Amino acid sequence: MKLLLQDIIAAIGGRCLNTPPDGNNFITAIETDSRKVKEGSLFVPLKGERFNAHDFITSVAELGATATLTEELTVRDERLLHIFVADTKKALLDLAAYYRSLFEIPVIGVTGSVGKTSTKDMIAAVLSAKFNVLKTQGNFNNEIGLPLTLFNLRPEHQVAVIEMGMNHFNEIHRLSVTALPDVAVITNVGTSHIENLGSREGILKAKLEILDGLKENGLLCLNGDNDLLSQVEVTKWPMIKFGEGENNDYRCENVSAKGHDTYATIITPHDKYDVVIPTLGIHMVYNSLVAIAIAEKLGMTQDEIKEGLKLYTPSKMRMNISKTKNGITVLDDAYNASVDSMCASLKVLAEYESQGRKIAILGDMFEMGEFAPELHAQVGDYVAELPIDVLYAVGDLAKYIADGANKHKKDTLIVNYYKDKTDLILDLHNILQSEDVVLLKASRGMQFEEIVKAIGKVN
Ligand code: ATP
Ligand code: MG
Repeated sequence: MKLLLQDIIAAIGGRCLNTPPDGNNFITAIETDSRKVKEGSLFVPLKGERFNAHDFITSVAELGATATLTEELTVRDERLLHIFVADTKKALLDLAAYYRSLFEIPVIGVTGSVGKTSTKDMIAAVLSAKFNVLKTQGNFNNEIGLPLTLFNLRPEHQVAVIEMGMNHFNEIHRLSVTALPDVAVITNVGTSHIENLGSREGILKAKLEILDGLKENGLLCLNGDNDLLSQVEVTKWPMIKFGEGENNDYRCENVSAKGHDTYATIITPHDKYDVVIPTLGIHMVYNSLVAIAIAEKLGMTQDEIKEGLKLYTPSKMRMNISKTKNGITVLDDAYNASVDSMCASLKVLAEYESQGRKIAILGDMFEMGEFAPELHAQVGDYVAELPIDVLYAVGDLAKYIADGANKHKKDTLIVNYYKDKTDLILDLHNILQSEDVVLLKASRGMQFEEIVKAIGKVN
């Protein structure tokens, strides 16, 4: 990276508090983490709940930083150029928008209630069979993570796949006008963060903010099977719908699972062909459909697309399948949970080929406010509908999952409830036996990875 300080100052509307730079002064990196600062870096100090990174300005000067943004009118260290801005977090976005504008490559923006990371990884995998792809690392999808992702753009990149997440209105707007996507993808509209957004219609509105930054000649890709997204009408951009339903432009048929792979026939507006997707779950077929649509749009051939699908590897704790030394199969989907993703994963468990018992260990789903009891009960209902042998509901809210399952359950389903994860962990050696297939899923804050670890140690 080599950016002239004068251009940066103009792009973010900053004001120099000490010696202004001349036309030769440039920076070679942009960092918000003071520990990562190197010689030539521009430091962007953010104010968090627990810290104020302006306190690290002297330490970044010692590491050789060239300049710092600041919300303060005082110069903390004369070794650094201080650029005053009203809000460093906003300046970070402005800076990212400026940096992105230097690259004339297609940017794919991915939002939705669930499946953003999985879809982003799938699109990036497929495109990587032909292009040099930059993608969001892990879950760096917010107003800090997205700029940091864009700063990783380099001249060799041919396309970027960028995840956009939110908890509140206006966040996707800010992310989209920063990344200026050429393709906008909405995976679905579910119930995640309904506490902040009031209703599912509110969630739809917040996701559609991605259109605010969509380029004029861009493309909108929507899950056409989603009740709310299927109603969306736009005239400004062409739209592609994907899903299982016949009304979709990209759809699938003959979906079946074998081992750890999913087989499907893909029907596109121009073609029909069989693919193998190296993971499980109908939701991953949806994620593949949109990846295929974008790949076709970018001129990839059928063979390249098939090759690209093979390159998909899930991010950590997203349906990672493993077998313990005692023959217990673990479906680790413990990264996060919402009603939609719980149901998608339960279906994978129900359809998993195995002679052993099918066990779902499900925990609380957060940020659902007053909707929590009803939404947890819905998950319980769904467990009762499926060929699942045992349910362990774990946590305060998960009580409603257990209640929902008990209300509609058949005799073949055993329902257990644990208020506390630690008690379940202590009981695991009594609960589990060889050949069992165990799904783990809960909101991030439940830290179900501790259960996954403990299962690995069961004798
Ligand atoms: P976050 O809001 O935490 O960033 P996310 O939207 O990025 O979440 P992922 O991390 O991709 O979502 O997936 C969360 C879970 O949702 C996964 O464990 C997987 O089971 C499930 N999932 C993935 N894709 C879909 C989809 N298209 N529809 C429903 N569930 C999905
Ligand atoms: Mg994510």
